[in-house]
Amino acid sequence: MTTFIVMLGPPGVGKGTQAKILSEKTGLAHISSGDLFRENLKNETELGKLAQTYMTKGELVPDDVTVAMIKDRLTRPDCQAGAVLDGFPRTPAQAQALDVMLKDFNGQVDVVPFITAGEDVLIERLGGRWTCRVNGAHVFNEKTNPPKVPGKCDFDGAELYQRDDDKPETVKNRIKVYFEQTSPLISYYRERGKLVEVDGTQPIDRVTNDLMGALKK
Ligand code: AMP
Repeated sequence: MTTFIVMLGPPGVGKGTQAKILSEKTGLAHISSGDLFRENLKNETELGKLAQTYMTKGELVPDDVTVAMIKDRLTRPDCQAGAVLDGFPRTPAQAQALDVMLKDFNGQVDVVPFITAGEDVLIERLGGRWTCRVNGAHVFNEKTNPPKVPGKCDFDGAELYQRDDDKPETVKNRIKVYFEQTSPLISYYRERGKLVEVDGTQPIDRVTNDLMGALKK
């Protein structure tokens, strides 16, 4: 049996933080489309160069490119039991492509936690976000989740940096793009009986509790 969890919610709501925790608790692979693009960017691959032109503006990378990247990632052995998908799908076309892809795994999207928070909270969180240079899943926040040593990752001691697309102008566009292109997925998954809404303004451990509760159902 496989389990595929799709983390849905606006940028800055805590999808990445929670996806990492869920992946550790369940043993499922954590797949972050944003991290995959950033890895490609760092390694200066063709995909990275293409993605960068969209990422710096806070726009979405075209569906065909994104779908191909995720499809490739899902073929790695760590996905045999399933995965926690973080940042994918982000458009209805990607959601449909995922449904088709998962048939190859005799799987389906099992549950879609939809994490919510108001726009003011998102803007504040993204502005104060610090990401580990070595592992993009290690994310901190100046106010709500500070690292033990300022500027250093708690997990591997690597340097923390502020993502280019966490700048105020880009943040605003990312939120706009979310409402225009990604929010239709709320009804897509609600109609299929997969959606579970979770209040993302709570402390990290409470959000995790709610998510674990949703998975057990
Ligand atoms: P994230 O780390 O999830 O905030 O993603 C960072 C950026 O990567 C986004 O603003 C997009 O430019 C790109 N990206 C990540 N996931 C997707 C996706 N599923 N579809 C299109 N673009 C994506």
